[in-house]
Amino acid sequence: MTPIISVQGLTKTYGNGFEALKGVDLDIKEGEILALLGPNGAGKTTLISIICGIVNPSGGKVLVDGHDVVKDFRRTRALIGLVPQELTTDQFETVWNTVSFSRGVYGYKPDPALIERVLKELSLWSKKDNMIRELSGGMKRRVLIAKALSHEPRVLFLDEPTAGVDVNLRREMWQVVEKLRESGVTIILTTHYIEEAEEIADRVGVINGGELLLLEDKKTLMKKLGRKQLRLELA
Ligand code: ATP
Repeated sequence: MTPIISVQGLTKTYGNGFEALKGVDLDIKEGEILALLGPNGAGKTTLISIICGIVNPSGGKVLVDGHDVVKDFRRTRALIGLVPQELTTDQFETVWNTVSFSRGVYGYKPDPALIERVLKELSLWSKKDNMIRELSGGMKRRVLIAKALSHEPRVLFLDEPTAGVDVNLRREMWQVVEKLRESGVTIILTTHYIEEAEEIADRVGVINGGELLLLEDKKTLMKKLGRKQLRLELA
């Protein structure tokens, strides 16, 4: 089966000469949940930013459903939703407007029925008229996901969805991801946490120093390395 995303020999050298990616190859299957596990500065955000078409690669290429992200950005961006690390959203806007506006940014016509479905799926429906600033941390993160789903992407990227949150909120996010899986969307998330990768992913890629060191289904990975060693590798 043709992968929904194919990353081929991807390199990135930033303007200051720093090599953030040193030749990454990665195929992602439609419908899977892939966790990219790695420490600070490993290159995770750079990798997903290039796949999402917001950072230019230095070499290699990325195909999304067979289309090149650099040459055919308009087509590929319609297929992708990105949930960024930071909560960048207008605090004084309502949940409904925030999510509807996001759909407009992608150039799609308003679709209230779709927005309603997305908000219900993320248990945000009762908060649709609330301002973002009135929401809890967990709800704010769910609004970011709703924004990313507002144009019905086939692939969803979550950049460290549980960074800096407490255990309860982390578990809540895991449940959200599990629910999204049922809708058939392909999910790629970055994380520092072994437990998180083990809990929700089908496959795990270990990335460090700009290289994809391992890519396995999670059971094989844990068997190969064991948690203790994996922890050491990530330290
Ligand atoms: P974290 O878990 O801390 O978010 P990461 O694995 O997502 O880390 P990246 O954000 O991709 O890592 O960064 C990889 C390396 O590239 C880091 O050393 C970072 O300092 C460097 N880097 C990232 N963006 C730039 C930039 N715009 N210019 C120069 N160097 C950069």
